[in-house]
Amino acid sequence: MLYPLDSRFLDAEDGTPFERCMVCDKSVITSGEDYFIERIFRRLPENEGATEALFEYAMCARCADDLRKKLSEASKVSIEQLFTDRLNSKQMLGIEESTKYCLLTGKPIDQALEFSYHAHCNRDRLIHSFFPYAISDDGMDEIGALLSDETLGFLDDFKGRHFSGPPELADFLKPKRLIPL
Ligand SMILES: [Zn+2]
Repeated sequence: MLYPLDSRFLDAEDGTPFERCMVCDKSVITSGEDYFIERIFRRLPENEGATEALFEYAMCARCADDLRKKLSEASKVSIEQLFTDRLNSKQMLGIEESTKYCLLTGKPIDQALEFSYHAHCNRDRLIHSFFPYAISDDGMDEIGALLSDETLGFLDDFKGRHFSGPPELADFLKPKRLIPL
């Protein structure tokens, strides 16, 4: 099923769809190829739980595939195993409910201090499978614990190359949050 991109998956800065792959700069809207959106948020407890996007991007399927190939074999296998174990028992939720709970831990996202949204898209449409989904801080930590030092080093480097937000936000963004899921 395809759905229109909703506000969960629009660029926080101007509320419009992401237009280009962060890595290769190809237009994800006109190319017609599938792509992924990831948006990483933190909650601002001092501001009644409002959220702030730390990092957000679109990545074309080819670049996402290349990135996954650069993870260590051990990291890849453990992450795939974790997802397979957790998704086996999951029912697919409706498109709107699908980001209310962490895909991996079931934690309500409104109780997570950090969380990420993930979507699989084509042009200006969301593809509904187990995407779109959300991962909570606890879920991200669980994934982070599976990463090898080699993979963490690679992700840190990737953050250095692509993080373009305000420097004061860079410290909040842990490299392990950037794992391509
Ligand atoms: Zn690309």
